[in-house]
Amino acid sequence: MQVVDTVAAFRGSLDVTRRAGGTVGLVPTMGFLHEGHGSLMHRSVADGNDVTAVTIFVNPLQFAANEDLAAYPRDLDRDLALCEEAGAALVLVPSVEEMYPEPILTTVSVAGVSERMEGAARPTHFAGVATVVAKLFNMAGPCRAYFGEKDFQQLAVVRKMAFDLSFPVSVVGCPIVREADGLAMSSRNVYLSPEERVAARVLWRALDAARGRIEGGERSAATIAGTLAEIVAAEPLATLDYAEVVDPRSLEPVLLPLVPGQEVRLIVAAQVGRPRLLDNLGVKVP
Ligand code: AMP
Repeated sequence: MQVVDTVAAFRGSLDVTRRAGGTVGLVPTMGFLHEGHGSLMHRSVADGNDVTAVTIFVNPLQFAANEDLAAYPRDLDRDLALCEEAGAALVLVPSVEEMYPEPILTTVSVAGVSERMEGAARPTHFAGVATVVAKLFNMAGPCRAYFGEKDFQQLAVVRKMAFDLSFPVSVVGCPIVREADGLAMSSRNVYLSPEERVAARVLWRALDAARGRIEGGERSAATIAGTLAEIVAAEPLATLDYAEVVDPRSLEPVLLPLVPGQEVRLIVAAQVGRPRLLDNLGVKVP
């Protein structure tokens, strides 16, 4: 496994791969890696990409001034061991100066899918994500790029950006990896105290219960969203931010009664102690 800290070395290495007829799988991350990130690398390897390239970069552009940029957890040695174990062949670990050598005047923003939910809670977040992902796509060149459904809205924003701006990149969404009790793995789970860690299970419990209601015949999206909200609100250590039943492509709330065969995404966000936790679940209406 090759570890580089310059864009030129990263681009050069992937150009060599492609010139020899090889394909590239790209896995962008902010580090402090866990099995969720590992699953993206495993998927890239399983898809037959000749080189799985991981980027580890805590992107200042996607953090607001009051957020946890300085405190974001980091452990490069452990991250590199996980990358190697998961089959990565190339890792880019750039400095902020390497990624943003000059004050940035050009940004990418995606209307529509980035405006509600996380976009409403964190107004500058998705432009920061779209901009750094656009840069990473240009650095990596033609490739498949792997993103987790854990950040479902981010995946939609990245897909739309890649499509609208004709990036030669095929965006692949990968399932959420969970702890044994259902909590979605996240680098920010490290912020949870032991009591908050127990309380954090409420997100998965709410999603599972809402799915149960759909499978039990409930067809009102508003009622299902209400179930999600009530369960989260009943947990004293959690503060609900939003609970929604949305169309998985447009991310717009479902307004009409659910119909058999319809696919919906249940999405929930709540503050539990220091971190905001996100989770979601796809359900096909029986
Ligand atoms: P992050 O390092 O948090 O920016 O995440 C990097 C990538 O890993 C994103 O595409 C995330 O959606 C994905 N990811 C994070 N947690 C999980 C998880 N529990 N399961 C699957 N993918 C994940």
